[in-house]
Amino acid sequence: MQMQRQTENRSCVLRCCLSVLLTIALLLGMSSCKKEEQGGLTMATDAAFFPYDYVENGEIVGIDIDIVHEVARRMGERVRIENMEFDSVIAAVQSGKVDFAAAGITVSPDREKQVNFSRPYAVAQQVIIVPVHSTIAQESDLVGVRVGVQSGTTGDLYVKEHIGEPERYSNGAMAVAALKAGKVDAVVLDNLPAEKHVSHNARLKILPTPLTEEAYAIAVRKDNPQLLEAINNALDAMDKEGVLARIAAEYGEKAMPTEEQGIWASVHNNFVKDGRWRYLANGLWVTVEISFFAALIGIVLGALIGIVRSTADQTGRLKWLDYFCRLYLTVIRGTPVVVQLLIIYFVIFGSVEISKVLVAIVAFGLNSGAYVAEIIRSGIMSVDKGQMEAGRSLGLGYGYTMRSVIMPQAFKNVLPALGNEFIVLLKETSICGYIALQDLTKGGNIILSQTYDAFMPLMAVALIYLLMVVGLSHLLKKLEKRLQKNER
Ligand code: GLN
Repeated sequence: MQMQRQTENRSCVLRCCLSVLLTIALLLGMSSCKKEEQGGLTMATDAAFFPYDYVENGEIVGIDIDIVHEVARRMGERVRIENMEFDSVIAAVQSGKVDFAAAGITVSPDREKQVNFSRPYAVAQQVIIVPVHSTIAQESDLVGVRVGVQSGTTGDLYVKEHIGEPERYSNGAMAVAALKAGKVDAVVLDNLPAEKHVSHNARLKILPTPLTEEAYAIAVRKDNPQLLEAINNALDAMDKEGVLARIAAEYGEKAMPTEEQGIWASVHNNFVKDGRWRYLANGLWVTVEISFFAALIGIVLGALIGIVRSTADQTGRLKWLDYFCRLYLTVIRGTPVVVQLLIIYFVIFGSVEISKVLVAIVAFGLNSGAYVAEIIRSGIMSVDKGQMEAGRSLGLGYGYTMRSVIMPQAFKNVLPALGNEFIVLLKETSICGYIALQDLTKGGNIILSQTYDAFMPLMAVALIYLLMVVGLSHLLKKLEKRLQKNER
């Protein structure tokens, strides 16, 4: 009898393991079909740094981009550009996710430990932007006031070291939007983007004394000295021929797109012009895709772990498996999901060419699995013990009773909690921008960084999430009702 139970337990666990593997294999297959075209060089940038890196008519352009394309042309190479948050750019080079990066990156001793820098191609300064009537007139006035910066930049470091903890935004445009909205009292930013913001907004000014003197250079992977040399040679030649100066002058004259006045003009500017609604539509698809498959992994993994844990709790068997499951739950529930996502992307899949959507699905699936496991375990525990005993005394196997008697009841009991978990999961995927995935939230951010308008894109993003959550809740309610009906 004991032997038979153990074999049944094992085969139940084995089948669940197989389904997890199958799901992962399926996803891997899917992602390899979708893998982007390989070959050429890859570079990282943050296209929210006008006029060095920005999006125009759906294309990434700017001083850096023109320089890089010219460098690549001289090397006989093609470049594929990956757009990400600035604070991921250096990590992407360092971990080998891209070959190099150009994003108005200031050369600094700390960064030199992680990447190689080319010769400089531009000089820059960190400057202070304030509202025209501000009482802030110099650096010393910044102590004790709210200073906005772009996260991970030299401006961020300077303020933190010399003034105090800054308020960090994911790009300069957002920091300036916060300044306009009165959320911060000053913004510290690189001079050229700062000048563009100010000339585009009559209510802002730049204080006369800059905080730093800096140089921009291209960041190259440490393990590729040949690439560094080739880039340096090209930059040297371009400098001598006056190409660098010509590119800088060309973009130096460009003005930021102006903000539209009036609601319809603003709707047009944020969503219709240049087909910007596509950032939301494509982002929505990525969000749905990641949430759906992550929920699938979460439910399979969660059910498996829930069964192992409750079997161990109730029968004292599966000790080792239970130990591993508890370890997994502790680690996953004890660390923030954004950290898990970054570790999976940069460390675990650091040197592997893998679709980012798949990375996100795995990360969110593993994360959700931990929460689903505890929900399902509580569901199983809530089913009366007599049910299992009744099943067993009828001669049904442990696995069979679990599957056909216990699990359906457990599932019904925990449906509201599961629904809640999937709603959280859907919204949690909004951190995908950290690994350069353009999900719904990132889509809204991209529009914001092109139109410098925070209200419209963020409202649209919020509304879309809200509609999805309302739809999901509605479906879950229906399912709950149906299950209740079946019970009667
Ligand atoms: N020059 C700054 C830095 O390197 C900011 C660059 C940027 O925001 N793209 O930190």
